[in-house]
Amino acid sequence: MGNTIGDAAADAGFPYDHVDYVCPPGYHDNEYYAHQCMFCDGGLTACTVCNGFEGAMTTQCPGRRMTTTENDEVYAGKLDFRGGRWAAATSFYAPKGYVNYAHALEGFN
Ligand SMILES: [Zn+2]
Ligand SMILES: [Zn+2]
Repeated sequence: MGNTIGDAAADAGFPYDHVDYVCPPGYHDNEYYAHQCMFCDGGLTACTVCNGFEGAMTTQCPGRRMTTTENDEVYAGKLDFRGGRWAAATSFYAPKGYVNYAHALEGFN
């Protein structure tokens, strides 16, 4: 059993299904600082389908681009997409979602 937020979400029945953005092959070929790309090194997450981004990412991918309003509400912890539908809940990936994560870990240990 893992201990990342993604693992906690998966264990709750909501496996990560966003399509992570990665730079195209050769994208950094001429860049001296290519190794510091936040997307390529896994430090930053963005979904190419819903445009979810870090704290404004739903627990599961809605399958379409989120509106600006939806994005704001997800970040605020008021809206989430999980189990195939939108819900007035806090995404595991929202800033306030860390509470879910901590509770999940408590349950595991
Ligand atoms: Zn990159
Ligand atoms: Zn997505």
